[in-house]
Parts: sequence; C-alpha cells; structure tokens
Amino acid sequence: MADERTLVADLKRYVSDFVRERDWERFHNPKDLAVSLSIECSELLEIFQWKGQEDVDVKDEKVANKMKEELADIVIYAISMANATSIDISDAVSEKIRTNESKYPAEEWKGKAWL
Ligand SMILES: [Mg+2]
Repeated sequence: MADERTLVADLKRYVSDFVRERDWERFHNPKDLAVSLSIECSELLEIFQWKGQEDVDVKDEKVANKMKEELADIVIYAISMANATSIDISDAVSEKIRTNESKYPAEEWKGKAWL
C-alpha cells in the first residue's frame, strides 16, 4: 500500500476487517478509542521526552522506524474511531480545513504560529 494508490475507504476497510476478524468491535467504543488514541500520541511524544529538538535525529533509522510505528498506531485508532462512529474522514478533514482557513486567513497568518 502507498498513499498515492490507497483510498481512505481502503484503509477504513482494512482496519475494520482486522478488528472484526478478532471480534474486537465490542471493545471499540468512542471512550476507549479516544483513550487509546491519546496513549499512542503519548508514545510518539516519548521519542522526544527529555531531549532538545536538535537531539532527535528523525532521519536516524531507529528513530524513523519508531516514529513510523507510533504514527501508524495513531492513524489506526483514528480510523477505528471513524469506523465506530460512522464519521466520514474526508468530509470531516475538509470541513475542518475550511474552518481553519476562515479562522487563520493565509494573508494574516503566513509564517506566524501565534500573534
Ligand atoms: Mg504504539
């Protein structure tokens, strides 16, 4: 699978099949999926814990592999949340980007992280 050749629907089905084949759908309620998503985000943060930004070489194979693994966990749980709650990811993301475009107009916010 590669981003250029994979639809969001394909990923949703792939994750859904994995979960259903293990009879894990009954554990996939929104609260536990939100908890799991947060834990996986923390595991990604752990790579950077107690280090300066310059101390983490994201091109180092070991670091890159760990980041890839944790990002995958995050995406899998995000997809599981969408599957469990019937959220259309493409619709949700495009709606949120439109909201952010209004909230942070490019001409006002270009190059700024805060006012
Ligand atoms: Mg993990």
